[in-house]
Amino acid sequence: MEDMIRYSVITEKNPREIVLLRGFGCAWKKCTFCDYHLDCSPDAAENFALNRSVLSEVTGQYARLEVINSGSFCDLDQDTMREIEQVCAQKGIRDLHFECHWMHRKEIPALRARFAALGIQTHIKIGVETFDRAYREDILHKGIGVSDPAVISELFDECCLLFGLNGQTAASMRNDVETGLAHFDRVCINIMVENTTPIHPDPQVIAEFCREIAPLYQDNPRVDILMENTDFGVGGSAQ
Ligand code: SF4
Repeated sequence: MEDMIRYSVITEKNPREIVLLRGFGCAWKKCTFCDYHLDCSPDAAENFALNRSVLSEVTGQYARLEVINSGSFCDLDQDTMREIEQVCAQKGIRDLHFECHWMHRKEIPALRARFAALGIQTHIKIGVETFDRAYREDILHKGIGVSDPAVISELFDECCLLFGLNGQTAASMRNDVETGLAHFDRVCINIMVENTTPIHPDPQVIAEFCREIAPLYQDNPRVDILMENTDFGVGGSAQ
């Protein structure tokens, strides 16, 4: 995955720069629909060299940076974390987004304090995928052992939802988005795409989403919609 595009600029809705860094690998790795945790290496020095190169592209043009790493911020090596601090300070980043699995939620307050000391507000995103607990845990194996969205959102600011799966309906998808908007600052909708897992996109559900759900939220500044998982400009291939 050396040829991945790892830096991009999002110019619409919450304009920000975004970097796709590489960590040791998601510690959870059990989500049945996911294969992007394969973007990882156990070699901290190699990860840091790659991440420092990617972070050198940050200009600070929107004073807002999103860091993703196919896992959680805790899967990044400490040299990379220090490099993020330095780049944020040098480029005037005031808002910094990270992603984090539920299992690492107790590490979030220390992360917030670390960056708050630099005058940087952190925004932590969790992949919830759906607020239907049975679907989320029995089928997607997400590893979030609570049902109440108010409890899930206690330590998190933003959530990801995953649509285009067998069994989802316009009503279930709308309920997920409305629940997300009621409990989180922002909602990121990802549409399932074919990957190496046994979970496949359902074209009828995706058509239903495009017809009945997307028009309701496409102009909502708190909702990102990614029809492809490369729509933020990172991931995929640089070839
Ligand atoms: S927590 Fe995220 S990276 Fe890890 S397996 Fe689940 S979706 Fe993939």
